[in-house]
Amino acid sequence: MLKLSRRAAIATAAAASAWPATSKPALLGGAKIRTTAWPKWPVFGKEEEDALAKVLKSAVWNRSSGKVTAKWEEDYAKLTGAKACLATANGTSALLTSLSAMGVGAGDEVIVPPYTFVATINVVLALHAVPVFVDSDRESMQIDAKKIEAAITDRTAAIMPVHMGGAPADLDAILAIARKRNIPVVEDACQAHLGEWRNKKVGTYGLTGCFSFQASKNLNSGEGGAILSNDSELIEKCYAFHNNSRGRVSTGYNFAYVSRGNNLRMTEFQGALLSAQMTRLEAQTKLRRDNAAYLTSLLSKIPGVLPAKLYSGCTGNAWHLYMWRYQPEKFAGLPRAKFLKALSAEGIPASAGYSPLNKEPFLVNTLHSRGYQRIHSKEQIAKWEHNNRCPENDKLCQEAVWFTQNILLTDHASMDQIAEAIARIQANAPDLNKG
Ligand SMILES: *Cc1c(COP(=O)(O)O)cnc(C)c1O
Repeated sequence: MLKLSRRAAIATAAAASAWPATSKPALLGGAKIRTTAWPKWPVFGKEEEDALAKVLKSAVWNRSSGKVTAKWEEDYAKLTGAKACLATANGTSALLTSLSAMGVGAGDEVIVPPYTFVATINVVLALHAVPVFVDSDRESMQIDAKKIEAAITDRTAAIMPVHMGGAPADLDAILAIARKRNIPVVEDACQAHLGEWRNKKVGTYGLTGCFSFQASKNLNSGEGGAILSNDSELIEKCYAFHNNSRGRVSTGYNFAYVSRGNNLRMTEFQGALLSAQMTRLEAQTKLRRDNAAYLTSLLSKIPGVLPAKLYSGCTGNAWHLYMWRYQPEKFAGLPRAKFLKALSAEGIPASAGYSPLNKEPFLVNTLHSRGYQRIHSKEQIAKWEHNNRCPENDKLCQEAVWFTQNILLTDHASMDQIAEAIARIQANAPDLNKG
């Protein structure tokens, strides 16, 4: 008999009595554990309807002539404690605008994590710069800040950490290296609305912090994005870039160009929708935090279920995703894909998350394209290919399981069902593995 600590023994006994774990899994014909629907996303009502109708009837649908998006920018800056906020068409354009305003371009390198949405890398490639991958910290699923310094070269123009799943990356370590080497930090906070590091909102630590309001995100205007910064001069550069080279004074038929640019502006409809959705954000975040904490207390008792570690500086996770690692050896070798199928049969939707981004063939293809070969030396590209190894991330991509944020907009009883379903699958893993 395995020697258990008193606490672990009590926990195991409690788990056993709360969950009839030996009952037949739904995938093998047993009764499904969760039969009611999970909350739909987005949540909306009369506030959104009124806000959109008001913009419609005003006949001012673009931000350059209107006041709705400008007001929302003020409110988001206030909510996050940032000096300035610029709304953009989407999160991708917030990142692109930030890098461009900082002068990142052809020939430069930008340090990025391999465990992120592809947009983090696409913006680097759009500027003809090279994304340099720093391996993941498997336990936290964030960029491994201890490995950043070794990846810095004389071409490194920015460090772009991602607050994956809404949990802050190790900002203390990242900012210390950035300061020491005098390299700007762009926080990809696209998943981290109201996330906090040492009681200050993420997105306010870097030279800029970027957010996405794409439909799946915790603050949603269908598409949308924003840049936060405490550097008012930089925000004006961002404004000009996102406004097709035109600063704030150049409106109407006054054509004055201050830099190169693009049209990445938010519409007044998006601004209106964001203002309405933002009235719900704090309460939703609080609910997600409460349920996530409870879920962690349950899942931590199940062998082979490893919730993503939070760094000690994290004082608030945005919980865009509830991320954990699945260890098949604790489930009689049941492969993750089969586990996810069994979980889904119990009425608990989950996904396997990202695949290794640094191994995407389109990356190497881009680096070998005509334009890149003209800018970057053969030696530099060969070195990139040689160094492009993220073994921890490769393992992480095989282990990860995600629950999406809407699952957390429920109650403790729903979290109990998730734990019950996992425990049931574990108890029946040998049978599930046969089928
Ligand atoms: C969603 C997301 C983006 C891109 O945002 P869009 O609004 O979809 O353009 C960038 N980075 C991360 C980590 C994201 O999750």
